[in-house]
Amino acid sequence: MKSLKGNKLYSIFTGTCPVCQEESMYKDPNPYHISRLFDMHERCSNCGTKYKMEPSFFFGAMYVSYAVGIAFATAAFVISWWIFKLSLLSTFIAIVLTLIVFLPVIVRWSRNIWVNFFFSYDGKKAKG
Ligand SMILES: [Zn+2]
Repeated sequence: MKSLKGNKLYSIFTGTCPVCQEESMYKDPNPYHISRLFDMHERCSNCGTKYKMEPSFFFGAMYVSYAVGIAFATAAFVISWWIFKLSLLSTFIAIVLTLIVFLPVIVRWSRNIWVNFFFSYDGKKAKG
């Protein structure tokens, strides 16, 4: 993971600040603590980046979550249908379960991808 630092993928997968990638944008980095799923810091305490550019900024992440959801559903389909050769009904159930189980991850990754559309990594702001 460390070798990805400086790449947007690092911020997306770890939920770290999109500018300095030094610390988590979330008060609780574990997305499975559901009650704190949407709890984000206002700013990065390392570089001062304000994550929420405008009040409904993360509303747009919803559009990203469709794409991320479809990616997870496609993966579940390929694994159940092509690899495990499950029936159509079992494949359908596997897709639904996958989406439910990974929902917190999908929500977080969508926000991370969304925020990375608007901010770029700045190595000068990283601790080095
Ligand atoms: Zn930062």
